[in-house]
Amino acid sequence: MKTPFDTRNEFIARHIGPRDADTRAMLETLGYASLDALTDSVVPGSIRGSSVLPAGEGLGEAEALAMLRGIADRNSVLRSFIGQGYYNTHTPAPILRNLLENPAWYTAYTPYQPEISQGRLEALLNFQTLVSDLTGMEIANASLLDEGTAVAEAMTFCKRLSKNKAANAFFVSNHCHPQTIDVVRTRAEPLGIEVVVGDEGDLADVSKFFGAVFQYPATNGDVVDLRALVEKFHAVNALVAVSADLLALTLLTPPGEFGADLAIGSAQRFGVPLGFGGPHAAYFATKDAFKRDMPGRVVGISIDRHGQPAYRLAMQTREQHIRREKATSNICTAQVLLANIASMYAVYHGPEGLQAIAERTHALTAILAAGLAQLGVKAEQAAFFDTLSFATGDRTATLHAKAREAGINLREIDATHLGVSLDETATRADVEALWSVFADGKQVPDFDALSSTDATLPKALRRTSKFLQHAVFNRYRSETELMRYLRKLADYDLALDRTMIPLGSCTMKLNAASEMIPVTWPEFGALHPFAPVAQSQGYAQMTRELEAMLCEATGYDAVSLQPNAGSQGEYAGLLAIRAYHASRGEGHRDVCLIPSSAHGTNPATANMAGMRVVVTACDARGNVDLGDLRAKAAQHADKLAAIMITYPSTHGVFEEGVREICDIVHSHGGQVYIDGANMNAMVGLCAPGQFGGDVSHLNLHKTFCIPHGGGGPGVGPIGVKSHLAPFLPGHRTGGLARNEGAVSAAPYGSASILPITWMYIRMMGGDGLRRASQMAILNANYIARRLETHYPVLYAGHEGLVAHECILDLRPLKDGSGLGVEDVAKRLIDFGFHAPTMSFPVAGTLMIEPTESESKEELDRFCDAMIAIRDEIRAVEAGTLDREDNPLRNAPHTAHEVVGEWTHPYSREMAVYPLKSLVAGKYWPPVARVDNVYGDRNLVCACPPMEAYAE
Ligand SMILES: *Cc1c(COP(=O)(O)O)cnc(C)c1O
Repeated sequence: MKTPFDTRNEFIARHIGPRDADTRAMLETLGYASLDALTDSVVPGSIRGSSVLPAGEGLGEAEALAMLRGIADRNSVLRSFIGQGYYNTHTPAPILRNLLENPAWYTAYTPYQPEISQGRLEALLNFQTLVSDLTGMEIANASLLDEGTAVAEAMTFCKRLSKNKAANAFFVSNHCHPQTIDVVRTRAEPLGIEVVVGDEGDLADVSKFFGAVFQYPATNGDVVDLRALVEKFHAVNALVAVSADLLALTLLTPPGEFGADLAIGSAQRFGVPLGFGGPHAAYFATKDAFKRDMPGRVVGISIDRHGQPAYRLAMQTREQHIRREKATSNICTAQVLLANIASMYAVYHGPEGLQAIAERTHALTAILAAGLAQLGVKAEQAAFFDTLSFATGDRTATLHAKAREAGINLREIDATHLGVSLDETATRADVEALWSVFADGKQVPDFDALSSTDATLPKALRRTSKFLQHAVFNRYRSETELMRYLRKLADYDLALDRTMIPLGSCTMKLNAASEMIPVTWPEFGALHPFAPVAQSQGYAQMTRELEAMLCEATGYDAVSLQPNAGSQGEYAGLLAIRAYHASRGEGHRDVCLIPSSAHGTNPATANMAGMRVVVTACDARGNVDLGDLRAKAAQHADKLAAIMITYPSTHGVFEEGVREICDIVHSHGGQVYIDGANMNAMVGLCAPGQFGGDVSHLNLHKTFCIPHGGGGPGVGPIGVKSHLAPFLPGHRTGGLARNEGAVSAAPYGSASILPITWMYIRMMGGDGLRRASQMAILNANYIARRLETHYPVLYAGHEGLVAHECILDLRPLKDGSGLGVEDVAKRLIDFGFHAPTMSFPVAGTLMIEPTESESKEELDRFCDAMIAIRDEIRAVEAGTLDREDNPLRNAPHTAHEVVGEWTHPYSREMAVYPLKSLVAGKYWPPVARVDNVYGDRNLVCACPPMEAYAE
């Protein structure tokens, strides 16, 4: 029994939107006596109760934070000079507070609706400008997942575009970061690409290569002129990628100026905390001629309905959803929040500030090297930027131990070499401390005497071109100005802090403040991913516990937290299946069945994993067509590797036949991949690992409360049954010893945001998680019921119920009104709402997922808006509103439009205040409907010169 003195867990009721009375009212509307009765009708009997989630109460917010604090304290944060692609950095305080810790930025969705996303689109365009300026390339994307996967993308990009068509080998300099080499090897193997890792100095004939990648500066610190190598590879029509350090590029000749075809790398050291390896944004930049083949998202400038400039995601038609298995890449969620931090870091410091940071870092490194030389420790570098390496012979282990005693981590290059990388945070005291480590009884050098050490880089390598000349990088030097710029951009956008975001398949639920708080604790934020294991015991405990919790939630036996997005989880899962078949002498199994309704990442991933996609049909009710599945499974039985299904289906229905689907595939020797993006309908109710799945990925940034960040970060862990556990991704560099290679640059992927999910599960407990799933189902069915007489619900299961999302069919409206999904989506903006998912998985439909976090008031507000819009459509059908010039066609309406000359046949009030309640609190979109076609025809992907705005 609880006593009045026991702490109460209020969190469940904070996380869940509807109050008890609302829940009763909604259940009554649907005709169910209880939540259990409702979910019993929704979840098929054949799988119900398969959950292994233990019942139990969660912890209160304060208690959970205190417990996590104890775990965090087991991490020790030393001064890390390990480098290797990860550097200490000062996140400018106004960016930390006003962006990284600000829900207006971190709760936003991917900017597919440009009219309500102009703020983050501008920040991303700044990122692209930053990257193309610093790398000297013509066009850059925003953004990729990490440096390792960016280089892997570079490899397949070279393969697609190289004119050396007969070649099948990719050269990887052994001066690339080891984790990069690891990820590239993993990626190459299923594609049958030969990876040659070697010293570029030893290269003779390169005719067998379609491409090459070099690290600039090299992982050991060398800064070398790559021009001759670029020419050597160009002579055989191979393409050259350069993985470059953005900070170094403020001083060094950029890759674009010495002929590289593409530049990739990490933007981490531009203000993004180390976070034990992630999340950080990677970048990808190339020549204009190759732009249509770039992986990831690209922001471009278009115009709106009134001809005003407006940002949007360019070339969306090139995405996985259209190209499926022919897509250039499976990247979906990227690292938008982190790209925005990096771009604002450049806005904050400007070109001179960045150069000053680089010069200071470089000068300290030169002083460090000079002092060490005095001590008889000579750096191996002829030219360097911030990194030195030393042959330390049999003293290596002793030096490491001494360094650690002094609170310093050096890089362990190998048993006889060690390395040091300085960074923005390095001080005179750090340099002196490093000297002391190496002094070995000798007199520590005098800093002042060495302070004028010549720190110039070789002339041929010195950057002469200007960068970041655009006003945005030269205007916000005072904190007041920067704060207001960040606020201005945030105000352009609609994020979860202002409205529900009813996106089917994307589960935009509450990201509670107490879940977010630990992310920026230094014990989680400031740890280097390759710090000695003894220093990351807190992380070890937290990840171990989280893996166990996710096993319980899914019914799987083992979990890998390494994949840093859902797409990467899919990839790791299919690799595990592939390796499993190979281990049994069945490596020839390469057919992957995928239902036609699948998310685009599924076929794109199967292709990356070296599988052949065979599409299976869906029946009229949106379910997997069992007859077709049986036939195709039998037809390909000898070759069947896997099926990829989403459950509940992307149609928002719990298919009754899911056990049968799994049985059919298993009986033909295949493995079952269950895409867990829809896990929010299942946690605590049924478990994929118990009803036939062999492996699933989860989207922790959907079901488990990690915020979307405007399009990333994400975490896409996979759960597997025990027979696949030996084939989970490993990490040679990070000491995660397993047979398989790495799929991410860091052993625990986006480690620093895992505490969010840990907090969520700990606070909800088994009972709370189960209730969340039930409430998600209730909320979705309530919306479906309120809207079904206005818009037909496309698919429903047992008793006419949907799962946690519903699809509204707008196709029938087209004939009578000429209006479609786009018009309704844009009209919702006038009502202050973010649109539902448009035209996925069925063209001409809207998919709505309210999540458990939305209150009944918000659901009603949304339904009222949708019904009011339907009434407007009826008016168009009836001819009382003009068929062409009506509020839907012209939506969204800007303030500028209503104060100008008004020519429309409907009133200004109808345009902007369609509901009275909007008068008191109105979201004004900064631009009107954006012209997609114009933007793709006239691709501009960097900040235009100021004259362009003057026109
Ligand atoms: C979101 C989603 C994915 C991809 O996840 P990312 O994290 O964006 O890579 C895959 N499948 C389905 C069904 C999804 O909804």
